[in-house]
Amino acid sequence: MKGRNVSDGRVIRVRGQVQGVGYRPFVWQLANRLSLRGEVLNDPEGVLIHVCGDALNAFELSLRSEAPPLARVDAVESTPFRFTVTPTTFRIAPSRGHGAETRVTPDAATCPACRAEIFDTSERRFGYAFTNCTHCGPRFTILRALPYDRAQTSMAAFDMCPACRADYQNPADRRFHAQPIACPDCGPRLWLEIDGQEITGDAIALAASRLRAGEIVAVKGLGGFHLACDARNPTALAQLRTRKRRPGKPFALMATPAILRAHAIVSEAEFARLTDPAAPIVLLRRNGPLLPEAIAPGQPTLGWMLPYTPLHHLLLEAFDGPLVMTSGNLSGEPQVIANDEARDKLARFADAFLMHDRDIVRRLDDSVERILPSGPMILRRARGRVPGTLPLPEGFCAAPQILAFGGQMKSAVCLIKNGQALLSHHLGDLDDALTWEEFQNADRDYSDLFDHHPKVIACDLHPGYRASRHAAQRSAAISAPLIEVQHHHAHLAAAMGDGGWALDLGPVAGIILDGLGLGTDGTIWGGELLLGDYLHTERIAHLTPAPLIGGDAASREPWRNLLARLDAADLEADADRLLAAHPVALLRQAAKAGVNAPLSSSAGRLFDAVAAALGLAHGAQSFEGEAAMALEAAAEGHDAAPYAFAHTDATIDPAPMFRTLLADLANGAPVGLIAARFHAGLALAFAAPARALVETGRAKAVALSGGCFQNATLLAACLDALDGIPVLIHHNTPANDGGLAFGQALIAAARSIATPETR
Ligand code: ZN
Ligand code: ZN
Ligand code: FE
Repeated sequence: MKGRNVSDGRVIRVRGQVQGVGYRPFVWQLANRLSLRGEVLNDPEGVLIHVCGDALNAFELSLRSEAPPLARVDAVESTPFRFTVTPTTFRIAPSRGHGAETRVTPDAATCPACRAEIFDTSERRFGYAFTNCTHCGPRFTILRALPYDRAQTSMAAFDMCPACRADYQNPADRRFHAQPIACPDCGPRLWLEIDGQEITGDAIALAASRLRAGEIVAVKGLGGFHLACDARNPTALAQLRTRKRRPGKPFALMATPAILRAHAIVSEAEFARLTDPAAPIVLLRRNGPLLPEAIAPGQPTLGWMLPYTPLHHLLLEAFDGPLVMTSGNLSGEPQVIANDEARDKLARFADAFLMHDRDIVRRLDDSVERILPSGPMILRRARGRVPGTLPLPEGFCAAPQILAFGGQMKSAVCLIKNGQALLSHHLGDLDDALTWEEFQNADRDYSDLFDHHPKVIACDLHPGYRASRHAAQRSAAISAPLIEVQHHHAHLAAAMGDGGWALDLGPVAGIILDGLGLGTDGTIWGGELLLGDYLHTERIAHLTPAPLIGGDAASREPWRNLLARLDAADLEADADRLLAAHPVALLRQAAKAGVNAPLSSSAGRLFDAVAAALGLAHGAQSFEGEAAMALEAAAEGHDAAPYAFAHTDATIDPAPMFRTLLADLANGAPVGLIAARFHAGLALAFAAPARALVETGRAKAVALSGGCFQNATLLAACLDALDGIPVLIHHNTPANDGGLAFGQALIAAARSIATPETR
């Protein structure tokens, strides 16, 4: 009797990003296909399956190999299980133990099936700008609180119609439990608005015709408003630049794949990145019919993205050309997300507004990425990438919960929990009041969402950073120890962590070429060769310090750094000649007297100095990194002998480099050639001693980090010079200060593990 009701089966635990991605209906369909019986459910640890039948091995293999597009399966753990009552069907059972563990995935670009539906006249979602399913659509940008279900999102305002509800409840449907499910009968609505008045007619067609006429249209997207205009129209571009008071900073572009390929060279790897569910902006080399220079003056690459929401697909199809899609914001402020805010702030930029009534809960900029021969590079980590987590390297699983607050300029916070790091979206420059508010919100928000209770707080050593002051207050408020981390040690740790360097794997030589960061000796560092691990670091060598003449002004005006470097190289007469337009005598006096001229070994400022010497930077920069980007662009395509730097015990002196550079300039050498010789020289000046550290056994690898490593030419030159030894570089986190919090968190984790009593 007993034997008839007993069946041998398995209980299978699936871990990873398996909730909110259509994983249960996938399991249900798979089980039915293989004639298996049992059940599947969500619980705080992921997905739990009880199953019996014949094809159990095939079933287990497919749980990984056939997983839906947005799922990430980290582990499939299977153990024998004996059913007391043999199930007759396979069912989706109710979730168990709802809790803060219920994850939300990043926003995902429209999937091919949804894209097909919106262009198919026979579908009820034909032309519908808010179509989505379990494989695509808004997620983090509409989320108010966990667990992720409709009532906790800005879709709560829309009642599902009977047809949508039927899809939502049908495990065989692509929209089973798709929380943002919507259709023209029940979902969000799109309209075109001018001067606060809704214009009657097809909003997409109206917007496209305005764009064709050269107007600027504010488009409400997924993580914020964009300002759009025809990328082929120089008048429209000039108007956008004037209205935004943004003379030179590159604009991003959006186009369909066919149009994108007509204007850019796209490798397979780049196309794969563009079509990733994250749909980032990817920097691509120019090609084919020239687009106006004003899109990205002087840049050999343009930032492109594909349409990533149905609204974008419909708009691009109707417009039939490339669009500029730049952040809708006031200069320096975060992107606008609310309709009223847009009407108020963007009216001076936009001729019309393409609006909708689904609230954007979370402001997320477009992510910016680049594919190099050395792999992917993240310049800005935002929409589509957050709140994805990064696994911590081996040895970090014992880390307590940690919260790190990052830097000042490209701020982002980082949370560590359960052996994973969650690096927040790019928040921006904390000097801006609204960004500062956004930063404080993000702190609260991420902590709430991920049920995070930090035992240790980490921040930069610089006490003047708003993030550091905030960290000190937070640590006092919750009586958690505060760990202050030297800026460039954090960069080093970030590159090590990104490269998966295990906690006890030993010391690494760090070539950290960066803007500015406070050093342990009270001076400002930024061109450093470090030797260290996650716990300690030693400053092996650095660029010979030069004064930042005028303090902060030296970061805005590249020529000030040229003056400092030429004077230091006994090239005063050349400084007088090259900088005749500037108040050289006065500033020289101030620098000599040490008035507002702190010393710095910054590599970023060295780039500024060289750009100024070559006439690539006049007056003040219109955006951060402008001079360095011009120098990188100039070096393109030149293969040149490196300039020599002088090496003494601990300093790497650019003085001889400047002497040769000026001689080259006097001899009429092309600017591009000189720029290339500088890149190669700087790379070698640091790579040679770093290589020596590895070859003498003091270091086991070399790590490359700091904002200068966004420069592909510099990165390639360093990798060349380090050929044959292990090198750690950033692939999933930014090399710039956007990755700083990740490094701080790893260092705080290492210290907490080493000295558990601080926990
Ligand atoms: Zn879809
Ligand atoms: Zn509906
Ligand atoms: Fe930095």
